[in-house]
Amino acid sequence: AFEGLTERLQKAMEKLRKKPKVTDADLRETMREIRLALLEADVNFAVVKDFVKKVREKATGAEVLKGLNPAQQIVKIVNEELTVMMGETAVALEKAPHIPTVIMMVGLQGAGKTTTAGKLALKLKEEEHARPLMIAADVYRPAAITQLQQVADSIDVPVFEEGTNVDPVQIVKDGMDQAHANHNDYVLIDTAGRLQIDEKLMDELAQIKELTHPNEILLVVDAMTGQNAVNTAEGFNDQLDITGVVLTKLDGDTRGGAAMSIRAVTGKPIKFVGEGEKMTDLDVFHPDRMASRILGMGDMLSLIEKAQKNFDEEQAQETMEKMRENTFDYNDFLAQMDQVTKMGPMENLLKMIPGMANNPALQNVNLDPKQFAHIKAIILSMTPEERQNPDLMNPSRRRRLAAGSGRPIVEVNRMIKQFNQMRKMMKQVTNGNFNGLQNLMGG
Ligand code: GDP
Ligand code: MG
Repeated sequence: AFEGLTERLQKAMEKLRKKPKVTDADLRETMREIRLALLEADVNFAVVKDFVKKVREKATGAEVLKGLNPAQQIVKIVNEELTVMMGETAVALEKAPHIPTVIMMVGLQGAGKTTTAGKLALKLKEEEHARPLMIAADVYRPAAITQLQQVADSIDVPVFEEGTNVDPVQIVKDGMDQAHANHNDYVLIDTAGRLQIDEKLMDELAQIKELTHPNEILLVVDAMTGQNAVNTAEGFNDQLDITGVVLTKLDGDTRGGAAMSIRAVTGKPIKFVGEGEKMTDLDVFHPDRMASRILGMGDMLSLIEKAQKNFDEEQAQETMEKMRENTFDYNDFLAQMDQVTKMGPMENLLKMIPGMANNPALQNVNLDPKQFAHIKAIILSMTPEERQNPDLMNPSRRRRLAAGSGRPIVEVNRMIKQFNQMRKMMKQVTNGNFNGLQNLMGG
């Protein structure tokens, strides 16, 4: 998802990257391109207008941050405003003070209600050891109940159903009785959908709402439908006062408009996103992470911010300079490692680097502090000359380092390879060249 948008936004901002100073005209041009990119991605017109206005105000008033070039600053502002636009922080599921918590799944036909009900039930089972009951209240398509049964069987969750000849409101009533009797802690109601919002559907949903007083009315919308998803959300919200949205099919070729407009248009949070057909493909929606993803940059900005907070200002400046000039050497690497250790667990930091969070090559990397000590040992076995000139590392020197540090040669080679990749990456980051960076990371 979002490839087109990501590329356009990056292009818009890349033009700024070599400029030491951003003029009003530059900013106007960038904003124009961002505006077009968002409109093309099917973001709601009013939302785009408001967004562009906010970014322009912030960018105009922005102070020159030490260590960040103009392009990076604009990226930072765009990222922050995208995050705000999508709701700022993740919003958790509401819970009933007394069991069961009732979750009503609503939405148009084919949006993903049944699938999402299953995914959610599985999540609750795994995270809270919950004992959910699912109620089959879609009686209009004969296959609907069978489908829910299959979904429920695959995750080992019971279904309450009364066939297709009973009124859905009655089914829900009977299902609630069963949930009370069995002490189920969650009830997920799988309701019917239509191809379009109609009065009969809304009436039925309103009756089920009236009957069960659900803690959540989750509207499931298909991200692929762009503006239609936003209109659907508006329609359902007007009639049912939904509590949240689940955006499905984000794994598909969606342009991003729905993800970016729904919160701003309806005022209701996106709570989950569906990213595939499997039962495990449901994630909590994090506006900040989504913004970074749209910008195609991992969580680079949090990393920059974290670095600014923790790093000694002068040394950070010096490092930036070295990164820019590509003279970053093993001495700097050592100093950085000491700084980085102050910043917290390495895994968290790595995930913030563009392309890293989802990079399969890194899925199995296990970074324990011992590894840090080993890397340090290898670098400390280098001569001062080697530390200053990373290009000297030929095979015989590598063998000597292995012997000196007591580490296997493969580990020495790996460390050197990683260091060289890091150097290359740093150069790209400081140039604001996120495209190149993504290519480098295989993203
Ligand atoms: P309902 O009519 O709203 O109950 O929709 P369903 O749950 O039956 O889903 C319709 C289709 O969309 C099914 O083929 C699902 O497998 C598929 N689907 C649902 N969520 C996702 C998702 O997040 N990603 C993908 N790729 N497919 C999904
Ligand atoms: Mg269904």
